[in-house]
Amino acid sequence: MRVLVIGSGGREHALCRALALDPAVSDLHCAPGNAGIAAVATLHPVVPTDPGQVVALATRLGAELVVIGPEAPLVAGVADAVRAAGLPCFGPSKEAALIEGSKAFAKDVMVAAGVPTAGARVCVTPEETEAALEAFGAPYVVKDDGLAAGKGVVVTSDRAEALAHAAACGRVVVEEYLDGPEVSLFALCDGATAVALQPAQDFKRAYDGDQGPNTGGMGAYTPLPWAPEGLTERVMNEVVLPSIGELARRGAPYTGVLYAGLALTASGPKVIEFNARFGDPETQVVLDRLETPLAGLLLACATGALDRQPAPRFRDGAAVTVVVAAEGYPADPVKGDRVEGLDPVAKDAYVLHAGTALDAEGRVVSAGGRVLNVVGTGSDIAAARAAAYAQVEQVRLRGSHHRSDIAARA
Ligand code: AMP
Repeated sequence: MRVLVIGSGGREHALCRALALDPAVSDLHCAPGNAGIAAVATLHPVVPTDPGQVVALATRLGAELVVIGPEAPLVAGVADAVRAAGLPCFGPSKEAALIEGSKAFAKDVMVAAGVPTAGARVCVTPEETEAALEAFGAPYVVKDDGLAAGKGVVVTSDRAEALAHAAACGRVVVEEYLDGPEVSLFALCDGATAVALQPAQDFKRAYDGDQGPNTGGMGAYTPLPWAPEGLTERVMNEVVLPSIGELARRGAPYTGVLYAGLALTASGPKVIEFNARFGDPETQVVLDRLETPLAGLLLACATGALDRQPAPRFRDGAAVTVVVAAEGYPADPVKGDRVEGLDPVAKDAYVLHAGTALDAEGRVVSAGGRVLNVVGTGSDIAAARAAAYAQVEQVRLRGSHHRSDIAARA
């Protein structure tokens, strides 16, 4: 199978790594990719959000499966264009991707489908925001009603800060605060049905002890030894299947990953957010544990054939990923520095590239805020953590930082 992956981050490196390990994949391409992906796939310099460029490349390559990694191309309608060109595509349509692109749309779908989630109000004027903050009480949750790469949400007990964020965004969703540990669950959907991957947890704050600003994610691990028994099944039945059913009823069948970000509250799992793509960096650990060849699973989704596919299997043991971020991340990351120490120090660790590029001499340099995702594996979380951090210690990038407490409590 000839496969084209769209994107350039650590998630896409994880996807490409898993696809390259699938014996059914004979030819792997990525656009635009990064320095690490170049080792497993042929790179192509296209603008990932340009449907015309992506379709032209996929057609020229004769791609038998196109996998779209990030949200921006989905919201730009790249999946629609690829499908319209007659090529199997793993990624939701522009309309279905609104489940991530518009928080208000996502709430509407959840309410219609009876999915447990935080109470919420869409607010435009300061008066509406004031009233909603009053109604839900502190801590206040104020979300930009648009794509903000996971950075448009303010959770605060400071009313003035909540109001200021609303004013800066314009149109916001003000929500009830959900109290409980967070879980990410990825469901692979074929438009009509879905199968779940293993739950994972990520770490959004920049610094140890969940301090500092929100980021795209500083680390992740799977499985969750503390998760209640039957969690995945419950979320599939109460959240994923009703939501994709509702989208299908609305004429927007969902093909791709439905990422449910959940809070495990005292009254059960509730949806914090949906995303229309694989989570980054949770994908890096979830795909590490996936035993079922990935290309077959994604193709079954793209062709509406998931019901003819055996349920995904997972390897025993655990995986932990630690993000190595550039100096200044998340506010103002420094780019263009040499990155070294990438070769695995042991067979239970490896390095995925997130924001990297090759310089004129062919050396790896930093090219983004989150530069590397170091993955460690082991028979349990403690072993996987130790493997990941042993590798992190080898990485050399001037001024870089990482959290030292990823998966520590688990
Ligand atoms: P989101 O972009 O919606 O995932 O929000 C980013 C982060 O803000 C989440 O991972 C949560 O930690 C937090 N958050 C968002 N909504 C809520 C909520 N209703 N209650 C508590 N925390 C929230």
